[in-house]
Formats: sequence, structure tokens, C-alpha cells
Amino acid sequence: MKWSLKIARLAGIDVFVHWTFLILLGWIIWSNLQSGQTLAESLMGVWFILALFACVVLHEFGHALMARRFGVGTKHITLLPIGGVASIEKIPEKPAEELWVALAGPAVNVLIAALIALGFWVSGKEGNWLELSQPIQGNNFLTGMLLVNITLVLFNMIPAFPMDGGRVLRALLAMKMGRAPATEWAARIGQLLAIAFVFLGALYNFWLIFIGLFIYLGASAEANYEATQSMLSGYRVRDVLMHQFTILHASNSIDYVVKLLLDGQEKEFLVEEDQQIAGSITRDDLIKGLQQFGKKEPLSHILNRQLLRLDLDMPLSDAYRKMTETNNKICPVYRGSDLVGVLNQENVMETIMVENALRDSARKV
Ligand SMILES: [Zn+2]
Repeated sequence: MKWSLKIARLAGIDVFVHWTFLILLGWIIWSNLQSGQTLAESLMGVWFILALFACVVLHEFGHALMARRFGVGTKHITLLPIGGVASIEKIPEKPAEELWVALAGPAVNVLIAALIALGFWVSGKEGNWLELSQPIQGNNFLTGMLLVNITLVLFNMIPAFPMDGGRVLRALLAMKMGRAPATEWAARIGQLLAIAFVFLGALYNFWLIFIGLFIYLGASAEANYEATQSMLSGYRVRDVLMHQFTILHASNSIDYVVKLLLDGQEKEFLVEEDQQIAGSITRDDLIKGLQQFGKKEPLSHILNRQLLRLDLDMPLSDAYRKMTETNNKICPVYRGSDLVGVLNQENVMETIMVENALRDSARKV
């Protein structure tokens, strides 16, 4: 994620913090000082927020480490002012595995809350419940932490995407009806809940409106993603392969390729160097290169070398997901070691739309 600072690497996963998070900390100190607190008291508030976000990071590690048990890696964990995001490479296909991965995050917060409660019980001290309305201080710090973790569990278990509860619901439904209809149902239930939140929010608490909108968008995004995936399922790369394409050479100038671009239909190209495909170039790359280096620059300096190579018989849904994840607009397709064609994102989308239209017209007949 852009604008993020790496703060740690734990269990092989990089932890990033988004710069807006620092604004949040600054704002807390400032508003505490404004309300007449001493610097020490203000810093206690910051300390509390840091502890809160440590709990969020542990929550994300719960997801990541459970996913690892099922052979799914996590690229990184990023902390935003609204919470944490674990970039898990893919959602496990089996419903039972998705269920465990989704539950593992909130389970971490249940564990933390239970440990704090156990600590209170063993030490014979009850938490300072009454003083919670006061600013966080040494004496109500742990009670605050306990409440925060319970809140994290309740919030995350709301049965709607993009919350963990939405994934739990989908996984449970998928055990009965298959993944695509389960997603549709889970998304619908989530959207109904979102509407209920907005209504309640208008009546009681403004924050519920935000939560409702957040859930509504999350449910729609998940349903769209799943619809694309299920539309592509059953197809292979060979079904949408393009056989006509131009291969450029790394020594070609930007100028030359811009002319080619304006003159024809292709917007993305493969680029050859030392008799093999070394990378790709898109219209956006060319525009950026033009601004940065001028028109005489050879392609070798600006081409995308993080090329994704696809196999002719790969399932189309896998290929498309990898292309979007790695941001590859065009990919060479091989049979064994022979280059047989290219796949580009746009033409995969066209195929989906044609397929959609065909299904609709078949329904009307
Ligand atoms: Zn979670």
C-alpha cells in the first residue's frame, strides 16, 4: 500500500502503518492537551491507542497464521486509522477453511479479553468500571483494553461483508449450497443489515450510519468479485487466447511505440530482449515514460519486467485473479515452452460481457 511505513516483520510478514495513523495519534495528543490534561495524561491516551492497535495487529495475525496452515500466504499487514488489513493471497476455496481463517481473528481478541478478565479475577481486583468515562489513566487502562477487545469481537462478528462475520456466514451457507449462491445470500443479508444500521443510525447514533454505508459497499464489492469469478469458472486460458499480437523490441524508442499505438488497436504489448520475452508495456507506461524521459528513450528502461507467464490450460478464473493482483494488463501464454498467444484483462472482460449477453438472450427465448 502506498504511503505506508514498515514498522516490523513478524513471522515472515511485513507490518506496515499508514501515515494517516500518525495524524490520529497527533490529534489525540492535541485534543487531550486542549481539554486541559497534562502532557503525561495526554501521552497515556496515545499509549492506549497503541495498545489498541497492537490488539488489532494480533487479530490480523490470527487470520494470517490460520491461512498459512492451509497453505495460503499473506503479503503484508497494514494498519489504518479504521483498523487493520491482512492481505491474504486468496480466500481458501474450501468452506471449512474459510470458516477457520475468518474465526481466527476474533478468537485472538476473545483470548486477550479472557486473559485480562482472568488477571482481574486472580488478583482479586475488579476493573475500574465506573471510571471509564474518565480519561484513560493507569488505573482504568486494563478495563479499557478489556472493553476494546470485546468491542472488536462484536464489531467483527457482524454477519456482513467485509466483516469477518460475513465470511463466517458465507462459509456456513457454502457448506449447504455452493460458494456462488452462498456469496449472493450473504451479500443480500449484509445489505439488509446495512440498511437497518442506517435507519437505526438516523434515529439513535450517527456512527451507525457510517458503519451501515461501509457494510453496504463491502457487500456489493464482494458480490461483484464473486460474480466475476463464477462467470469465469469452467473456462480455461485457451478459450479467450488472442493469437494476433505485436512483439516489440527493448531497443525500440518510446516515440516509435506511441506511433504504433495511435495507428492500431493494441494498447498493451509484449517486449522482447535477447530473443526472449522480457516484459510488457502498456499505454500508461508509455505516457509516464514520455513525461519522465522523453520520446527517444528505449523501452528497456521503462518496461514492466514483473511479467506473469500463463499456461494455456490454466483455469481462467485463476489467471484473471493473478493478473489483477499483480497488476499485469497483458500476459504471454505458453504451451510448454512455446509462446502461443497473449491474454489481456480487457479481452477477458469482453468475453464475460458477451457470455452474459448470451445467457440473457437464451433466457428470453
Ligand atoms: Zn478480522
